[in-house]
Amino acid sequence: AAQKETRGFQTEAKQLLHLMIHSLYSNREIFLRELVSNASDAADKLRFAALKDDSLFEGDSELKIRVEFDKDAKTVTISDNGIGMSRDEVVEHLGTIAKSGTAAFLQNLTGDEKKDSHLIGQFGVGFYSAFIVADKVEVFTRRAGASAEEGVHWECDGEAEYSVETVAKADRGTSIVLHLKDDQTEFADGWRLRSIVKKYSDHISIPVVMEKEQPMPEEGDDSEPPAPEDEVINTATALWTRSRSEVTDEEYTEFYKHISHDFAEPLKWSHNRVEGKLDYTSLLYLPSKAPFDMYNRDGSRGVKLYVQRTFIMDDAEQFLPMYLRFVKGVVDSADLSLNVSREILQKDPNIDAMRSALTKRVLDMLEKMAKKEPEDYAKFWAEFGQVLKEGPAEDFSNKEKIAKLLRFATTQTDSDAQDQSLVDYVERMKEGQDKIYYVAAENFNTAKNSPHLEVFRKKGIEVLILSDRVDEWLMGNMMDFDSKQFQDVAKGALDLGDLDTEEEKKAQEESEKEMASLIERAKEALKDDVADVRITHRLTDSPACLAVGEHDMGAQMRRLMEQAGQ
Ligand code: ADP
Ligand code: MG
Repeated sequence: AAQKETRGFQTEAKQLLHLMIHSLYSNREIFLRELVSNASDAADKLRFAALKDDSLFEGDSELKIRVEFDKDAKTVTISDNGIGMSRDEVVEHLGTIAKSGTAAFLQNLTGDEKKDSHLIGQFGVGFYSAFIVADKVEVFTRRAGASAEEGVHWECDGEAEYSVETVAKADRGTSIVLHLKDDQTEFADGWRLRSIVKKYSDHISIPVVMEKEQPMPEEGDDSEPPAPEDEVINTATALWTRSRSEVTDEEYTEFYKHISHDFAEPLKWSHNRVEGKLDYTSLLYLPSKAPFDMYNRDGSRGVKLYVQRTFIMDDAEQFLPMYLRFVKGVVDSADLSLNVSREILQKDPNIDAMRSALTKRVLDMLEKMAKKEPEDYAKFWAEFGQVLKEGPAEDFSNKEKIAKLLRFATTQTDSDAQDQSLVDYVERMKEGQDKIYYVAAENFNTAKNSPHLEVFRKKGIEVLILSDRVDEWLMGNMMDFDSKQFQDVAKGALDLGDLDTEEEKKAQEESEKEMASLIERAKEALKDDVADVRITHRLTDSPACLAVGEHDMGAQMRRLMEQAGQ
């Protein structure tokens, strides 16, 4: 064997593998879904590469996936004639289970199997799910366009090491051979494999074929058995091209798992065909859980672009704004050229029109969920609310729409649950109140216990309690809602004018007169440290507090800038 080498996994990788096998065991048939999903991705990649160079098809452009088994050898084999892998690619993609951030990821595990298996799925250990049922996995692969001598054989027993060697492989693509564990031989069975493919991979857009089951020969019948025949076991049409009424929830769910590489179910989806000036189909999903790298704004985005069912690119960031980066899905355009590139997308005004329409779709889906399924919306908010709060700054034209989707903690409930909308707030506003008040601090308890709130609590005026990092940025970009300005309770002079009673006003005037000389002395003593000293009617229990000037940065914003070294 040419240049056989053995390499070790990182320690973390081994730990991850053990964890995964353990936590996914109860759902072990998903190994087939993961391998078929990879084979389908490989077919997409080949089709895309062949747009520029169709010699890559090597005369065979009928892309398909084959599932085989051998009861005696206790193996299951999944083969495709997709893009294949070079030796370097094998080492890169199959030799590093642990991607960047594994250590941090492992620390995040809770010990709760259900939660952990979700996290593990998110981490993208798709290929390695083979080790749930196999104690040895072999991969035979050859990159499309490479010579028959440049095949690669990879082998691993799921422990500390794997080997790679260069071998001859006549046909392009990848075969994955699973040597089943002794207690997993049930998977070397045609009916079992068929039903798993049907269940999880029906939506795969290329054929998944298996050899037809032969009837057992009758006793005494010694005629030649019929020649083996293939049959396609999935529907084999791109799911998004089918009409909504034909697709079941299970199919939508499995399709989501395939394109998002997420193991969890989606929360909601929206599937639409648009015809007219622009022709396209979109299928957009809201995940049920935030990815661990959501705050990495350079991280990958969720929309895959197809042009007339040909895969063009992942992470097509032009189709949705940044604050909707958690949305996953597919956009298939009938108008774009197959040669379209990111650069072209950036300049195409039609893309802007699609982006506005898709943005609106997502916001509408959220609005509908908030109205009709508030419990699901609460789940959504807990996972993605922070990101949605970036919206008003980024998307001026949808500011009001986004504002209605925001949820806050307020003094109404005094709980840190962000579950009150601005619409609710405005409905509860006191007679004469013309502003939406908020208090901001670096954590919920500090904000909730702010001395600035005393007078509001006394008067029963509701105040939004803000403690997320993005909140002050959000407020800086919101200005108003329903024509009511936002007012930081810690900023400038507080005029609760119309909300004070006549008696209160009188009492305030009197105390101002009495205190005049005290204020003068305080101003003199503090003149180097503060801009002004004023009598306040904000406080009911605390004797004094610091306030920020009307046009100064908020206290929380200032802290953020300091942290950033400004
Ligand atoms: P993911 O599919 O989320 O990228 P996987 O663990 O399932 O993660 O696969 C890892 C990588 O291995 C893939 O991204 C791909 O580059 C490569 N790979 C896996 N299976 C195949 C295949 N059948 N053909 C070509 N490349 C493959
Ligand atoms: Mg995969």
